[in-house]
Amino acid sequence: MPDLPPPPALRLSLDTDALAANWRALDAMSGAAQAGAAVKADAYGLGVGRAVPVLRDAGCRRFFVAHWCEVAAVLEHVPADQVCVLHGVTNAAEATYARATGVSPVVNTPLQAAIWQEAGGGPCHLMVDTGINRLGVTPEQLGDQAVAALQVDMLLSHLASADEDSPLNAQQLQRFHEVTPLVRPRSASLANSAGIALGSGYHFDTTRPGIALYGGIVRPELADSIRPVAIVQAMVIQRRSISAGETVGYNATFTASEKIEAATIAIGYADGFLRARGPGNALRWRSLDLPVIGRVSMDMVVVDCSACPDLGVGDYIDIPMDLPLQAALSGLSQYELLTVLGKRLRG
Ligand SMILES: *Cc1c(COP(=O)(O)O)cnc(C)c1O
Repeated sequence: MPDLPPPPALRLSLDTDALAANWRALDAMSGAAQAGAAVKADAYGLGVGRAVPVLRDAGCRRFFVAHWCEVAAVLEHVPADQVCVLHGVTNAAEATYARATGVSPVVNTPLQAAIWQEAGGGPCHLMVDTGINRLGVTPEQLGDQAVAALQVDMLLSHLASADEDSPLNAQQLQRFHEVTPLVRPRSASLANSAGIALGSGYHFDTTRPGIALYGGIVRPELADSIRPVAIVQAMVIQRRSISAGETVGYNATFTASEKIEAATIAIGYADGFLRARGPGNALRWRSLDLPVIGRVSMDMVVVDCSACPDLGVGDYIDIPMDLPLQAALSGLSQYELLTVLGKRLRG
């Protein structure tokens, strides 16, 4: 066995300058509040090992993950007291792990509060549900004995519709203002990426941007300051001519109406290039759009490269990751476009 495999036919790179600049822009937009970073789901598919050091060096001091299994990778780069686990402690094993690592849970229910106290307790965070009805104690449950006994470092709530001009935003803000004095936390945090753009009233002490760090534009106010971060490329592995009347791909869903040139690209739905990015979407080479033809396969996709006589095997094609446009073209959300990126890209 040779020591090193050949260069991969698929590559994901990060524009680390853009990632750092996005964090700084969101931190500046957060005014007096400090921007943290949601790095759950392997930093939205981009890789914790690559993203967290960049965010840390840019100045970020709060990192949010969802699961305990995500903690160890983050702790390789930042101290435990900067990491928060959003799902909290659902059982004794998680509480024991939290205590052992020094990572604080975000307590979400009276049961979680009891589990945390049972394990020895200590400072933690608390999520109060102000209207998303997803995760967090209700305002009424703040009177629960175990909840009331918590030493709350940061009080959190999460906005349901911050990416829209919805009356729910002001309603949730109002409820958050009502509950904060009941908890008397050391600090408070409400805004995700879109929430930051809702204005200073939503900022409190810490903001929790995720998608915008990675290039997502979830409100028009972010468009000028947020840059794309993910750069995805895949190799051409075959080039062929297709005669009029021939079909391409599984179930022969594309039929050539004239003779065309086609290139087979080494990326498919197993890599997160989902079938929703099939016909109607395009890949790019030297700024030229190459329309996808036929079904996306597990490991391959075929494009019409008639416009590129120079394109050949071994060339790398750009998989467009300008998130708002690609979301509109594919029907996937900007979040999905990133978080589905597959293992072969992140290896
Ligand atoms: C994922 C998440 C965020 C980040 O949200 P974005 O919309 O990606 O900015 C913030 N807070 C909580 C509780 C989350 O679950």
